[in-house]
Amino acid sequence: MKKAFLNILLITMMLISSVSTAVAASARNMSSVATQSQQAAGSIVVSNVNFNDSTTGSWTQSGGPTLAYVDDGQGGQALSITRSADYEGIQSPTGLLDAGIEYTFSMRAMLAAGGPASTDIRFVVKPNYNWVANTTINATGWTTISGVYTLPAGVDPATAQIYIGSTDQTGPYTILIDDILITRPAAVVTVSSVNFNDSTTGAWTQSGGPTLAYVDDGNGGQALSITRAADYEGIQSPTSLLAAGVEYTFSMRAMLAAGGPASTDIRFVVKPNYNWVANATINATGWTTLSGVYTLPAGVDPATAQIYIGSADQTGPYTILIDDILITTPDTGGGGTGILDSDCSNGYVALTFDDGPYAGQTDHLIAALDAAHLRATFFDWGQHISGNASLVQAQFANGWVGNHSWTHSDMTTLTQEQITTELTDTQNALQAITGQAPVLFRPPYLASNATLKAVEASLGLTEIMADVDSKDWTGASTATIITNVSTARDGATVLMHDNLPTTRAAIPRIADFMTNLKLCPGMINPATGHAVAPPAQVAINTDFENGLDGWVARNAQGTPTVDLTTDQSHSPTHAALVSNRTGQGDGIGHDATGIMKPGTTYIITAWVRMASGSDSIWLSMRRTNAGTDTYDTIG
Ligand code: ZN
Repeated sequence: MKKAFLNILLITMMLISSVSTAVAASARNMSSVATQSQQAAGSIVVSNVNFNDSTTGSWTQSGGPTLAYVDDGQGGQALSITRSADYEGIQSPTGLLDAGIEYTFSMRAMLAAGGPASTDIRFVVKPNYNWVANTTINATGWTTISGVYTLPAGVDPATAQIYIGSTDQTGPYTILIDDILITRPAAVVTVSSVNFNDSTTGAWTQSGGPTLAYVDDGNGGQALSITRAADYEGIQSPTSLLAAGVEYTFSMRAMLAAGGPASTDIRFVVKPNYNWVANATINATGWTTLSGVYTLPAGVDPATAQIYIGSADQTGPYTILIDDILITTPDTGGGGTGILDSDCSNGYVALTFDDGPYAGQTDHLIAALDAAHLRATFFDWGQHISGNASLVQAQFANGWVGNHSWTHSDMTTLTQEQITTELTDTQNALQAITGQAPVLFRPPYLASNATLKAVEASLGLTEIMADVDSKDWTGASTATIITNVSTARDGATVLMHDNLPTTRAAIPRIADFMTNLKLCPGMINPATGHAVAPPAQVAINTDFENGLDGWVARNAQGTPTVDLTTDQSHSPTHAALVSNRTGQGDGIGHDATGIMKPGTTYIITAWVRMASGSDSIWLSMRRTNAGTDTYDTIG
């Protein structure tokens, strides 16, 4: 059990007007244990057991086999399993597999000498007893067993478990297994994506003084035409796009416009060091795809780094066409271990979940959001509210609840009277549970018209579409959902759904993406429909006008006393007085366990003064973890 205690340590005397500072609780850092490590670019190790340490790692015994560690003939050890039933051997922990992700399972296996001539062995995934990579083995040597597997729809990932199964023979026999490895593909996080189809350069801006134009890209979209007279003229990314120590993949398509030079070179250039990435020669006969990887050099401040499109000078100005700029980074599957809210310098994103509440789904979604320190807006389907009041309350406790109509019909097919009923019934049902009438409405299917807008206005509802569509409703994989969501930037609303395991599985990595890009979970501003900083929530607010409110003597050296006083006060009449101090650790404190949450930034302000004289005052945080106290000085 972790405990936290906020102390104000009084030393001696002095008037200090206020102490104001921010604390990022670091307990979360310490508790984050990496269970998934990056293996090679493109895949993430989910489980890896080689038995060399004479353990089964995170796997445990299944059934009642006899297990032993034996020489694997290659300098390590293998696991010997003497089994008398097909499920006897070892099994994975539950919850290893996420929905919607294709995993690769592999291991090596062989029969011990003196048993049957051959047998079959496989991975088996409960609760559906799916076989993966069933293979015949014998005693002449190791056989590598490998296959891919995706959890079937409808299976709760929390219950899924893998065991090693083998075919019954006459009587017990012994198999040897080694090098169990389960991996999944790394999802890709989109750092920047510009395709010019909307006749803008997106977050990129003009560099130098080129002539820019949007032209047909020959593929049904648009490309950017850049008529340039200097190598840096074109477009440039925002600064702060790249984080230190991360390998990014840059790509784009480029070609020369007709009538110019026969060929030229083009590349990404990263300031401030003017590093070239993916330099390639292009011509006017067709598109060339440029692609390369890049990591910021040591010592470069990421806040100053900026990417531009550079091209080689020719005799006189000439025109290049570029398209489909894409900058990505692998998702490392870290599981939402970042500290959200600690740095919101790139703004706020509103995560939204439609169509709930769903019994057996929404509670898991909110647990995932809470674990990742994410807050969200839930657009509820009126017919789903009945019997699910506790889920609506949980949504409301996590973030915000909006209206998504009663029957989830296409509102543009209904009369004004029908629409009014749809929206009003949902408003009333939600208000009865949360005490507040929603102020946001998302039209089902994002379909709207003037009649709907009139009803929304009459009910004080702001219509919210979606800036970013996760496309989870199309059956997209978790990896695709992460990739789609990771295009969101400051102010964006992100469309997801309440009831999809694939979406739930994406939550930790959405948190990672937001942490890495210094984006924080926001609320939707009803005035603008865009994501903004949520209002501050008060954790502890004591003016001592109505008692000590949980503040108690904090005794380190002596036994100080704490009383209410009217001798001095900041406002209006009472203050807390700490008396009978004998050392610098004696003061006043408040238990913050369960009040201050890990991963949240707090602003702490107190009015303090000495009764007479002057000296220093400390504000500190005590954390108790497994019986050990740690102190952080805050101010
Ligand atoms: Zn919907």
